[in-house]
Amino acid sequence: MNVMTKVAPFTLPPLPYAEGALVPAISANTMSFHHGKHHKKYVETLNTLIQGTDYAGMELEDIVQKTFKAKDEKQKKIFNNAGQHWNHTFFWQCLTPKGGGKPKGKIAQAIDSDLGGYEKFKEDFVKAGEEQFGTGWAWLVADKGKLAITKTPDAETPMAEGKACILTIDVWEHAYYLDYQNRRPDFLKAVIDNLFNWDFAEENYQRAK
Ligand code: MN
Repeated sequence: MNVMTKVAPFTLPPLPYAEGALVPAISANTMSFHHGKHHKKYVETLNTLIQGTDYAGMELEDIVQKTFKAKDEKQKKIFNNAGQHWNHTFFWQCLTPKGGGKPKGKIAQAIDSDLGGYEKFKEDFVKAGEEQFGTGWAWLVADKGKLAITKTPDAETPMAEGKACILTIDVWEHAYYLDYQNRRPDFLKAVIDNLFNWDFAEENYQRAK
């Protein structure tokens, strides 16, 4: 995954499209705050927290995996900011203008065989995002070669547990509140219908096999 720098200081990766390119599913205003303020802050906080620690020389994935489920308060903070940096960098790549709808290729076949077809995938993905109480993420993952839909709270990520991430949607309120207010399921449906980057998903799926 493109995280710009392999070790600290980490940098905010530029969006792979213009802030306004995902309109109307996601407004330029939301993207500006979400990427330019929220994601940026996670990167800055992470750099500050790991300065002078063993984590300063580690790659982002290693930091996330080594601090996952940490008991120590400082390590928990490091996990939260490292996890959010990884999740957001991944999320931006899951979206593309004129994306969404039914996929093609191996991923489409796997959705049919593992998840009961595209319509069922969509229904279950929306449900996962809707049912994640409070902050978190909805995911399509590959676990031991089989696709699954899952959800994680706060900064947690299936990557920390060694699962292959295929697609995600951020369901923190900052991801949709300016555009959808309390209508989280409408945001999820709009992303699935209009923005999912199935080429990226196919690459992730092929790599996971
Ligand atoms: Mn977010």
